Amino acid sequence: MTAFPRCLATAAALAFTAALSVATITVPPAQAAAPQARTQAPGFYRMMLGDIEVTALLDGTHPFPVHEVLTGIPMADADTLLAASDLAAPVEGSINAFLINTGTKLILIDSGAGVLYGADGGHLMANLRASGYTPEQVDEIYLTHLHRDHVGGVDQGGRMAFPNAIIRVNRRDADFWLNPANKAKAPAFLGPMFDGAIDSLRAYVDAGRVQPFDGEAQLNPAIQALPSPGHTPGHTAYRVRSRDGQTLLAWGDIVHVAAVQFPDPAATVKYDSDSAAAAQARDRLMAEAVAEGSWVAAAHITFPGLGHVVRRDGRYVWLPANYTTVGLTQAR
Ligand SMILES: [Zn+2]
Ligand SMILES: [Zn+2]
Repeated sequence: MTAFPRCLATAAALAFTAALSVATITVPPAQAAAPQARTQAPGFYRMMLGDIEVTALLDGTHPFPVHEVLTGIPMADADTLLAASDLAAPVEGSINAFLINTGTKLILIDSGAGVLYGADGGHLMANLRASGYTPEQVDEIYLTHLHRDHVGGVDQGGRMAFPNAIIRVNRRDADFWLNPANKAKAPAFLGPMFDGAIDSLRAYVDAGRVQPFDGEAQLNPAIQALPSPGHTPGHTAYRVRSRDGQTLLAWGDIVHVAAVQFPDPAATVKYDSDSAAAAQARDRLMAEAVAEGSWVAAAHITFPGLGHVVRRDGRYVWLPANYTTVGLTQAR
């Protein structure tokens, strides 16, 4: 071993110490004061339904004033059910839409609120782009009903947000919400719903791009309309069927507050145009989802609003989708 001259060793140690002290002074502590990001992940989620690609798109979340809006259930009971899911009123509810790529057509089911829910909504377009698509690629838009959190997103400042799309909607909803005479007869709280539907669809109506349908129309080889009136006169669910026979029910506003309406499907909302019919439609579609083992794509169940329904101990239960990445690339 070579002896290191003591004076050089001392000089080296002093230089090291000096360098360390400079470093201590000039480099800020690594974990201090990183600004909080306070943003969420991009709001899209993808799954395959056999040969069909389904993309859930988040338009936003909105505090749902359960105490003012829920009907058909004692509020104490609703609060107990919310507490069982670690929730309390108001419940932050998602606004979801679903992009269906059949392989030959790109179809958007519902469109979010656009500007009509302020900052709580209107994020669908950014999330559509983040998911890898452009609004120009959308061929058709199927609306479950004409409430403004479903139709508002088709409009962009008086112009068509989806310039190549035609819009399909049940004729009963089109006839009801697009007729200003009905607004005059309706309760005041529904007024903004009429205005939202008329304003959002105006450019498409003028261009002849709103094409109402009747009943159980087969709108695409893979997608059939299932009238489920009650929430609105022409409320419609859509059944998507893959070539290998898997099904997905895009069921619109069948459920507003999952923590309450799965255990108690008789709970309704004050926006229902016919409460009894709305409760019947909910029971019917939940029963179909259970019997068929169908996927469900829900407008207001927490994002991405995709899952299954099962029945346990005489009650419906929501089973959210298991997160997938490999399921997108496996051979079909
Ligand atoms: Zn609605
Ligand atoms: Zn809705």
